[in-house]
Amino acid sequence: MDEVKYSLKDYKSDLKPIWCPGCGDYGVLNALMQAFVKLQIPPHQMALISGIGCSSRLPGYINTYGFNGIHGRAIPLATGVKLSNPDIKVIAVGGDGDGFSIGAGHIPHAARKNIDMTYIVMNNNIYGLTKGQASPTTPVGEQTKTTFYGNMDEPINPVRMMIAYKASFVARVFSGDPKNAIEVITQAIQHRGFSFVEVLSPCPTFRGVEQFKLIREKVRHLPEDYQPTDEVRAFDIANDNDFIRLGVIYRQDRPIYTDIMRKMQQVSEKMGKPEILNLLKQFEP
Ligand code: SF4
Ligand code: MG
Repeated sequence: MDEVKYSLKDYKSDLKPIWCPGCGDYGVLNALMQAFVKLQIPPHQMALISGIGCSSRLPGYINTYGFNGIHGRAIPLATGVKLSNPDIKVIAVGGDGDGFSIGAGHIPHAARKNIDMTYIVMNNNIYGLTKGQASPTTPVGEQTKTTFYGNMDEPINPVRMMIAYKASFVARVFSGDPKNAIEVITQAIQHRGFSFVEVLSPCPTFRGVEQFKLIREKVRHLPEDYQPTDEVRAFDIANDNDFIRLGVIYRQDRPIYTDIMRKMQQVSEKMGKPEILNLLKQFEP
């Protein structure tokens, strides 16, 4: 076995998490740090970027480069970090409100361009930080502070959305299933391209303690022989209403954004357009 240089204590920051007792985000923090230990990524070669929300506090609890940005803007900030330093691992984190409401316009573009980063969304089906309003993933009929008579709006299905947007790695895990979460998050970080992980991460304070139990009853791992390269099958899994499937649901190997930029550079060289060349060179590692 390779030498273990970094352990959990190397990734833990001095800040103590202030999430409510029983919040699913503790499990995500732990799974993420365990994945770093498995991968032995030096803390100074990573950047964790977030927007605003309970889960967006996460970069403060990990000893890497980090940026707690503004609401919904984790993806463009992370894109900027990656393009300016392609050698570091970039991980964007946040919640369902931050990512799928105000931030939703950024997601398809990072996915289709295949920016080499990981995006982890802690989905609790509610706005937790602002104390319990319906979010884009709140189920129909649910009573929240803003849907007193029941939520009228069809929720977003994050996995289905990400497959449709051509994300090259799409997965779902549950914060109450750490073994699977660590394994899948490790694969997501290793993936070359835009990897998306939806983490079912309960909010006991505003969705009730039963949210944990309800998720646990419905989740099932993908079958051992499941092939994530089959897009049609991946949509079937995303549309499954009987069970919530956990694992790597879809993956595709295709060039990342910087590969395409390098190709453009060759084209511009052939065309003798030095001004384009100079521009592209700014994004070289
Ligand atoms: Fe977690 Fe909900 Fe508390 Fe926010 S409000 S810290 S999501 S339990
Ligand atoms: Mg939320």
